[in-house]
Amino acid sequence: MRVLGTGGPWVDADRFGPSTLIRYGDERLLFDAGRGVGIRMVQAGEDPGSLDTIFITHHHLDHISDLADVMITSWLRGRRREMVIYGPPGTRAIVDTLVNVVYAKDIEWRSVGEPAWGGWQPVRAVDVERGVVVENERWKVSCDWMVHGHKLGFRPEFVKSWKCLGYRFEAAGKRIVVSGDTVDCGGIRRLAQDADVLVQCCFANRGECEGNPHLERVAKYTLADTVQAATIAQECGVRHLVLTHIRPKSRERMAQMRREVREIFRRRLTIGKDMQLVRV
Ligand SMILES: [Zn+2]
Repeated sequence: MRVLGTGGPWVDADRFGPSTLIRYGDERLLFDAGRGVGIRMVQAGEDPGSLDTIFITHHHLDHISDLADVMITSWLRGRRREMVIYGPPGTRAIVDTLVNVVYAKDIEWRSVGEPAWGGWQPVRAVDVERGVVVENERWKVSCDWMVHGHKLGFRPEFVKSWKCLGYRFEAAGKRIVVSGDTVDCGGIRRLAQDADVLVQCCFANRGECEGNPHLERVAKYTLADTVQAATIAQECGVRHLVLTHIRPKSRERMAQMRREVREIFRRRLTIGKDMQLVRV
């Protein structure tokens, strides 16, 4: 697998939006389509035309900003099958709007005006809830609810509609978990149990949060900090923890990040970099 983007909503030339690619045989599964995912794929030598299965964790900008790019670029780069996009409730409405409204003219123009591309290859979105998302003879993906800002004081109707998922991929006896955005919660702990790899959001160091009310609030309600990420991985028996969604940090802060996680988590640790390949 490859962490294609390891940043967040801020614009950072070193860390693009969160996206993780799992390669299994000839198949490519993409988890989230953050800013610059297509560029990172090409830079990493991955073929955007190979994409036809996408899993979306939630509807924050940094996780879906390049969804249309992935849908259309995969077609322009040779996708000859229907693309299926799985995501929390509301994903279908977003994808339908992109295909039928925002990019309807682009798609029709390229289908007719550039017949070399062979006509539009459809995209279908499926809204999913906690449980098994896809199971075939090769692999299985399941998901669970994450806690990502739900207690920040939003309107009750908004909280009801704010659905965030993490995913667990299983194949050939291996388990890869992608947390999406979350604090420590039951959902991520269920998914991460005995995982070979946990790709875990880890925004701030505990040492950055102390005395900083904004970061303390983020770590409490929105995104795991180092101590939470390490504790989840350690207590769930994760073999390899890969950190992503990393807040821009100085060299000293990066060293502190590693130190803080290492105090709790004893097995293999990777502080993710964009396009980094992780063998499973
Ligand atoms: Zn988010």
